[in-house]
Amino acid sequence: MGRGFYVPWVFRMIKIENLTKRYGSVYALDDISLEIEKGEVVGLLGPNGAGKSTAMNILTGYLSATSGTVAIDGIDILEDPVEAKKRIGYLPEQPPIYPEMTVEEYLNFVFDLKKCTFDRKEHLKEICEVVKLTDVYKRIIKNLSKGYKQRVGIAQAIIGNPPVIIFDEPTVGLDPKQIIEIRNLLRILGKKHTVILSTHILSEVQAVCERIIIIDKGKIIANEQTSEITRAIEDNNRFKVKICGDRAKVLSALRDRSGIVKVEEEGSRDSDSALYIVETERGIDVRKTVFYACAENNLPILEFAPLGAELEDVFLKLVDKNLNAKSDR
Ligand code: ADP
Ligand code: MG
Repeated sequence: MGRGFYVPWVFRMIKIENLTKRYGSVYALDDISLEIEKGEVVGLLGPNGAGKSTAMNILTGYLSATSGTVAIDGIDILEDPVEAKKRIGYLPEQPPIYPEMTVEEYLNFVFDLKKCTFDRKEHLKEICEVVKLTDVYKRIIKNLSKGYKQRVGIAQAIIGNPPVIIFDEPTVGLDPKQIIEIRNLLRILGKKHTVILSTHILSEVQAVCERIIIIDKGKIIANEQTSEITRAIEDNNRFKVKICGDRAKVLSALRDRSGIVKVEEEGSRDSDSALYIVETERGIDVRKTVFYACAENNLPILEFAPLGAELEDVFLKLVDKNLNAKSDR
């Protein structure tokens, strides 16, 4: 996307201002403001209870906010809910599927519900081809696998060809093969639609989304291009290394090497090996140093992995970064 410079045909597809949702004394959303441009594929990332589903339910008009506004394509969701909703396809956490219907019956039912004006046969055929449902079109939904049921959920969301599609944790409960298939489908849909996808899995948004919005306890704690978040994770100065041999020997081999700041043994040791956390100077890749230091001292390395590709670590880093940025001012 042409971020950073003004492109006249890029406009706000979604505009959220000061959105708050309170349940009693719990703030599920706490003063969230956000803009999403036409054509963007955005990931809403956060742990369970962060407020993802609440945000999506308000965006799609299924839930009312305590305060704040939402506009879809310039249309306020409270002022003109019918027009706003026409522009959104939604796959909620619990897909609204009728298990006793066949795929054909259900999609025709949704077509009527949405008062879709396209050529029915042609439109449903095209959708089934995109989401790969053609082979199961005549089957009863309850007999389909979880992956196919999810495709049916995606199909109902895109009937009517809405410019915005919103998917709440679309890969939860699927097996790895189904996850890959659904992710590929999301990428394809992202070429033609503005997509918002929620997940608690970092690698999922990294794989599919251009921008990542991290929410925690109802607040946005990061809103960056995926490449920025990936860089923040990769700019890692801690490694987990499993090394065979005597502890004192390992520590003396690694300490005082140029670029290595700190070495600590971690957790319990196996019979002849232990895990060490090696902290290095920022911006320096000392993996070779560690390798040669161990090789010279006959200390075999069994494992070598960067620390911190987990959501928790990204949170800590971002919270850290925000605090530092504030104290810099
Ligand atoms: P997520 O989808 O990120 O897991 P949710 O939006 O479902 O998070 O929930 C955000 C917070 O709001 C949680 O603390 C949850 O317990 C609370 N919450 C959600 N729905 C309700 C409800 N209907 N009544 C009371 N609290 C709720
Ligand atoms: Mg949820």
